[in-house]
Amino acid sequence: MPNRFYLANLPESGAAVLEDLEAHHLIHVLRASPGDIVELFNGTGLVASAQITSLHNRDAQLQILGSHREDPSPRQIIVATAVPKGDRFDWLIEKATELGVTRIIPLRTARSVVDPRVSKLEKLRQTVSAACKQSGRNHLLELESTTTWSDFVNRELGQSASYIAHPGPTTRSPSSLWDGKSSIVFAIGPEGGFTDEEVELAVGRGAKPISLGPRILRIETAALALAACAGNC
Ligand code: SAH
Repeated sequence: MPNRFYLANLPESGAAVLEDLEAHHLIHVLRASPGDIVELFNGTGLVASAQITSLHNRDAQLQILGSHREDPSPRQIIVATAVPKGDRFDWLIEKATELGVTRIIPLRTARSVVDPRVSKLEKLRQTVSAACKQSGRNHLLELESTTTWSDFVNRELGQSASYIAHPGPTTRSPSSLWDGKSSIVFAIGPEGGFTDEEVELAVGRGAKPISLGPRILRIETAALALAACAGNC
């Protein structure tokens, strides 16, 4: 795979300019030269092969050699998750991007202890584009604003095959998760777990409790285990 660069306003043909972080990566990290060929993507499916025409200290000029559009996946994987502490959320976002999760909805639940600031979410969107560059993904994962449990339940559950991850002996394990639908949504609770009321609210809206086995997993482990199951079944 050629080196890839994210350019939101990528044209289909003609000239393109890389600036800021992407230019820094190309010029100072990879030490590219005029004539080198790279791949550009706009995060909504447009992908181009481009040749570097000139390099400056802070920007790079390129000529597009050819471009094509890639359709988004017909299947949507939505992960609504309480936010883990520290850099575990960055890690979750990076891995979810690699695994093909379509959207992440950070949740504010009764027992949540982390409520990321808007600026933190903005920074995490750079983690998304970096993971797309590295993994060859051409549609950005959508990292949404933080949503309360009741807003999430009312807005998202029912339309997709819907699950609430909840440890316990009576819940079913992940098999044939898609239930014939083209989108799937998983809710993952905070380290203190969902309250009984939160579980009842989600189940009342059609979410099925789902178990990942007898051990208690960290938020990010549960989120990624479910994303991997959904991507492969
Ligand atoms: N102390 C809590 C566990 C919280 S773990 C309790 O006993 O309920 C954080 C979240 O990860 C949980 O709310 C759940 O959504 C998910 N999770 C962790 N382990 C799981 C398991 N074995 N099965 C299903 N979901 C799990």
